[in-house]
Amino acid sequence: MSILITNIKELLQVRETNVTIVKGEDMKILPMLKNAYVFIEHDTIVEYGSMDDCNGMEADEVIDATGKIVLPTWCDSHTHIVYAGDRTQEFADRINGLSYEDIANRGGGILNSAETLQNTSEDDLYNQASKRLTEVIKLGTGAIEIKSGYGLTIEAELKMLRVIKRLKHNFPISIKPTLLAAHALPKAFKDNKTGFIDLVVNEMIPAAAKDNLADYIDVFCEKGYFNLEDTERVLKAGIEHGMTPKIHVNQFNAFGGVALGVKYNALSVDHLEELNSVDITALQQSNTIAVALPSCSYFLSIPYTPGRAIIDAGLPLALATDYNPGSTPSGNMNFVVSTACIKMKLTPEEAINAATINGAYAMGISNLYGSICRGKKANLIITKKLPNYYHLPYAFGDNAIETVIINGEKI
Ligand SMILES: [Zn+2]
Repeated sequence: MSILITNIKELLQVRETNVTIVKGEDMKILPMLKNAYVFIEHDTIVEYGSMDDCNGMEADEVIDATGKIVLPTWCDSHTHIVYAGDRTQEFADRINGLSYEDIANRGGGILNSAETLQNTSEDDLYNQASKRLTEVIKLGTGAIEIKSGYGLTIEAELKMLRVIKRLKHNFPISIKPTLLAAHALPKAFKDNKTGFIDLVVNEMIPAAAKDNLADYIDVFCEKGYFNLEDTERVLKAGIEHGMTPKIHVNQFNAFGGVALGVKYNALSVDHLEELNSVDITALQQSNTIAVALPSCSYFLSIPYTPGRAIIDAGLPLALATDYNPGSTPSGNMNFVVSTACIKMKLTPEEAINAATINGAYAMGISNLYGSICRGKKANLIITKKLPNYYHLPYAFGDNAIETVIINGEKI
């Protein structure tokens, strides 16, 4: 099966060499071809170029993209889409004046999601998650990371990870699984945090590793959740079992979690709404990428990650959704890109780099995903007719996507 996309008004993120990350100043550059074509064979981008050089090319299917923009699918490196039910009541409670912390303190929040999930069958959980995944693919996501963390018991955490594995098996997009057992302290361990960390380290991590269910180990490193010492114990155990750290840090407080992540070669440090110069310096001496989650800031009305400062410090930045029932019930990467421009003052070029190639880097898959490059996976978005690519972040809330191609097949 081959597809030839012709007359593309703007072909974005074309890379002659297989670039796997873009940093600092380079993020301002989004390489583009006007009046272009892309040739796909099976699941791979075989060739692209100017329409002037497209003469005589044949394919099983030709898609005329006159007036349309083509770009790589979004790479969403931070989600929690395997969850049960929703938290609409807490949403209303927050509007009526309760804070995220108030809600957590009275048994809501993550513990509420955990209780619902523990009582949900594996099949039901799979069905709920697969609906969400189907929706985000339609919104242009072609690679995604999914975390556990709403189980908080061995059985429920493994149930979540098995659901992720099943999604991975049944869906065409790339899915990376993360064990986030240390997401919140379960009620049963209310006064025994050390006991819970023991459980995570001695039982949950080995059990997940035994069945090869998680590539990454994650911790919610935050005041009132897990401190530096807890985080370090969990990261060390994860690494011993072949998992790479990717951590939640600096959402509400900055107290050294970024440097700790860097110390253990975290692939990414995510959130960073609160960021100081010590954190920036730590990142400058690392291969760790910062991941911003602007829909979470939008939904909770908390500060936005200082993406401008991160990029201006010469660092790479990725953008992701944080799709989860409590703080970001949305998996729309188009909204993320738009919000990054509007609220974080990223340029459209920086935001698109952050949501494609750098998102792929934050999942360890940027050798195959995140740019239009010969030999990379044929995961593409074809938009409706648009004046230019600025329209993508500009028309926030609009769905500009007409067609999504995953592994060389139209969805
Ligand atoms: Zn998260």
